[in-house]
Amino acid sequence: MGFCISCGQQHQDGIRFCRFCGNQQPGEQLLARLRQEAEQIHYMRLQAQALAQQQQQQQQYSQNQYNQQQPRW
Ligand SMILES: [Zn+2]
Repeated sequence: MGFCISCGQQHQDGIRFCRFCGNQQPGEQLLARLRQEAEQIHYMRLQAQALAQQQQQQQQYSQNQYNQQQPRW
């Protein structure tokens, strides 16, 4: 599997044009290098998502605490 150099969508190896945005894709050597970069970017994105989820959970947690501190009428 490869990634489009333009839109970043995943597609099959060996294609000349991206089927999502229509951009021409690079040759195999460049593709291999770009694939490594894409994997790194993908990994960074996963990390960022995990971080965002953690922050959301922390926000929910502090909101729960805040709700618990509210007086019950
Ligand atoms: Zn594309």
